[in-house]
Amino acid sequence: MFSLVNSNEFAQRADAEYFCVNNHRFVITFAAGVAQPVTWDCPRCGQSAQLAGSQAEAPVSDANRSHWDIVRERRTLGELADLLSQHDAQPKP
Ligand SMILES: [Zn+2]
Repeated sequence: MFSLVNSNEFAQRADAEYFCVNNHRFVITFAAGVAQPVTWDCPRCGQSAQLAGSQAEAPVSDANRSHWDIVRERRTLGELADLLSQHDAQPKP
């Protein structure tokens, strides 16, 4: 006799905990050993959520967000540098 329990075992799973900018918590289950994305869209509000314990900045609630926080959610520093140089290159009135 032989055992059926070998390659048909369920893959190991790992839960990743996320918090969005509105402090919604949710868990996404990945296969173990798979790199978990640092951000994930919140299933409740659609905002970007941060992997708990990740290196990225902690989520900031809407009430505490500065203009800079909002700009940084939409643009990378590289994009902002490009925009600034484009702005500087425009002819002055
Ligand atoms: Zn949310």
